[in-house]
Amino acid sequence: MPRPIRATISLPALSHNLQVVRNHLQLARQDCQETTGKSFGSPFIWAVIKANAYGHGLENGIKGFGQADGLALIDLNDAIRCREKGWDKKILMLEGFFEQADLPYLQENHITTSIHHIAQIKMLEKMPAGKPFDVFLKLNTGMNRLGFRPADCAARFQDLLVLQKQGRVGKIGFMSHFSSADGQPGAIDEPARLMMQAIEGLPGALSMCNSAATLRYPSLAFNERENWVRPGICLYGASPFDTPTETATAFGLRPAMSLKAKLLSVQHVEKGESVGYGATFTATQNTRVGVVACGYADGYPRHAPTGTPVVVNGVRTRIIGRVSMDMLTVDLDPVPDAREGDWVNLWGHNGPHIDEVASHAGTISYELMCALAKRVPVDLEE
Ligand SMILES: *Cc1c(COP(=O)(O)O)cnc(C)c1O
Repeated sequence: MPRPIRATISLPALSHNLQVVRNHLQLARQDCQETTGKSFGSPFIWAVIKANAYGHGLENGIKGFGQADGLALIDLNDAIRCREKGWDKKILMLEGFFEQADLPYLQENHITTSIHHIAQIKMLEKMPAGKPFDVFLKLNTGMNRLGFRPADCAARFQDLLVLQKQGRVGKIGFMSHFSSADGQPGAIDEPARLMMQAIEGLPGALSMCNSAATLRYPSLAFNERENWVRPGICLYGASPFDTPTETATAFGLRPAMSLKAKLLSVQHVEKGESVGYGATFTATQNTRVGVVACGYADGYPRHAPTGTPVVVNGVRTRIIGRVSMDMLTVDLDPVPDAREGDWVNLWGHNGPHIDEVASHAGTISYELMCALAKRVPVDLEE
């Protein structure tokens, strides 16, 4: 018998969130057309399913995002798995390929790849011609992680044109990645300007926007090019922002991952007694304490302090004391009817929002989703 802990992954929520992004882009499109008097195509959407679809399961991502125009990820094995599962639309390798031996797989599986480093161009030159795949030339516009300098864009584009003539490379597009689309308003102005300047006069599709940029600056996806956005976190129902107004709920996003576990035990702790490792919580009054079958080995953040919200029998209460490996403890004073065996909603459906839990733990929902442990049994909502 499994332990009394369950994650639920909702495929309808994944599909819903994809539609929310489409609708958001559609509204932005109308806006942009009205303000410029020009007409723009709808941007295409790559659903980002790296990291096991942000912890939701690769296959759930493939199914939930069936209406996406493409899937974007970083692991070639996962890309091949998408093909095996019948995904016949585009697949983008966000970090490209890593060694020469990867290339035949890209060729056989028609996988699009980013090109961010000269070593990758050298490998393409050595690859047998005749089975071209599409590429996105990745430029570094300020993240200073992956990508060519904007000043080198034209030269690298020429390299790719040669490879294209040789039948090694198919269509050539351009991509960049923002470091601070969730930061100060306008933080993307300079990176976006650098990008547009670097690719001016060079034909090809364009991809710049992650979730934050797609939600906050959708007009970036409207220009004379074919545009692709690359949302990840918002498709799983969480917000990339930590402002009070730009919440997942405000955008109409629905949590796709829920986590709950049962009360294993109810303790009566007297005033002055403490709870858990390090005795970090001391009761200021006699308190009913619930012991929940979920700990950091399940993916619940150990850094979640006393006060992190949970929901028991529909009542919002809080964690008290330290999260341990297999258990955590909650304040049951607000829930007098709570008994051993009752479910405690830790995040998602009927629980606090995962963004709230993350914020209490000093992290982001991305990390909580990715950290959901293998040992947690998953129920699928289809
Ligand atoms: C992860 C990733 C994304 C998606 O980012 P979110 O913040 O989850 O929307 C987009 N582009 C690249 C290159 C990425 O690595």
